[in-house]
Amino acid sequence: MAEYIERTDVLRIIDEVYGAGKVYHRVRNIPAADVAPIIRGTWDLLRHDKFSDVFQCSECGRKVSLTHGRDVLEQFPYCHCGAKMEDAPCPEHQP
Ligand SMILES: [Zn+2]
Repeated sequence: MAEYIERTDVLRIIDEVYGAGKVYHRVRNIPAADVAPIIRGTWDLLRHDKFSDVFQCSECGRKVSLTHGRDVLEQFPYCHCGAKMEDAPCPEHQP
């Protein structure tokens, strides 16, 4: 999997170590990759009753409802707002 770093950080290090020479200019001219930052969110449990569980996106407030026994992260790994959902409480272990 590719990793992305800030060009300005690399150029600063090259400049400190080697000066603004040929390597500096070659790195500066590499075309930028088309990447976007990942928005991370969680499914917060809003309601747990004997029929269903209702979760809410921590980033946009969207609500999803699931029947018991279904894993919200498996059903909705991403919210419609684009957030990558990384955590959700287990409804069966709520007080
Ligand atoms: Zn959302």
